[in-house]
Amino acid sequence: MEVTDRARSGFKELQEEVLKLKRELNAIIVAHNYQRAEVQDIADFTGDSLELARECVGTRAEVIVFCGVLFMAETAAILNPDTTVLLSHRDAGCPLADTIDMDSLREWKGRYPQAAVVAYVNTSAAIKAESDICCTSANGAEVVNAIPDQEILFIPDRNLGHYVSTRTDKKVILYPGFCATHDNLTVGEVRAARQRYPEARVLVHPECRPEVIELADAALSTSQMLRYAKGSDARVFLIGTEEGMLYPLRKENPDKEFHLISDSLICPDMKRTTLETVIETMRARKNVVTVPEEIRVRAKKAIDGMLAIS
Ligand code: SF4
Repeated sequence: MEVTDRARSGFKELQEEVLKLKRELNAIIVAHNYQRAEVQDIADFTGDSLELARECVGTRAEVIVFCGVLFMAETAAILNPDTTVLLSHRDAGCPLADTIDMDSLREWKGRYPQAAVVAYVNTSAAIKAESDICCTSANGAEVVNAIPDQEILFIPDRNLGHYVSTRTDKKVILYPGFCATHDNLTVGEVRAARQRYPEARVLVHPECRPEVIELADAALSTSQMLRYAKGSDARVFLIGTEEGMLYPLRKENPDKEFHLISDSLICPDMKRTTLETVIETMRARKNVVTVPEEIRVRAKKAIDGMLAIS
């Protein structure tokens, strides 16, 4: 899904339309690192979900256009209750976040009443509200080690939870959710890519399976990958996360090479957003994301707890 220069020039008219709508709406546009390159190009900020939600805090814009998936736009709405948040595609959800609903969370809490619930930010606002504290893929172990509880119910990603469990002495109970995009990456694909580029550093996301992480040089969140690639003296990298990540990596490191380990590292929900859907969303001021105040306040507490730690 690489976008050639010729294709990118075809986006110019659409990008100009987005910028015109942005002025009319007094909006800011934020885009996740996994978005299409041409969508990242029209954003005021790009980054991981939490970076984006935090970038919006204190904005004087009346509207935040969130190019990403639903739980991310909800997080922006939780942290920015007085700003209208629009999601760039009505159906852009996160199948990982959808692996846990309120009934299953309550059932698991009933099974482990003594455990503190640590929720990956890839969860709905309602699930965050029922959790003790949130974490990201960058700070999971830091959060788990900082809270006083010795037993942790980690939701919903079993692979990130397992990765965190290797970095703490505490007992970590894993909820069985996973992100299919990352979980599908296999040991065989990593080995084959290493054979093609024997000199490369292998960077994978902690949502990958434990046996894949074991083969990598580092398991990193998207923001950590950007920092690692910039600071590394290596020239070639094999990337084990969603395809969109190649764009900021290549943009920030034009003298280095980045290759996706597998062509299947594409999140269909992240790719729902196009320049056309951004324009439709802005024109109609539609896909407004709201979080009921009672849920927002409790979800914010779980997010603030994490921010106080990291
Ligand atoms: Fe959710 Fe995985 Fe897609 Fe990220 S890549 S939005 S975790 S399904």
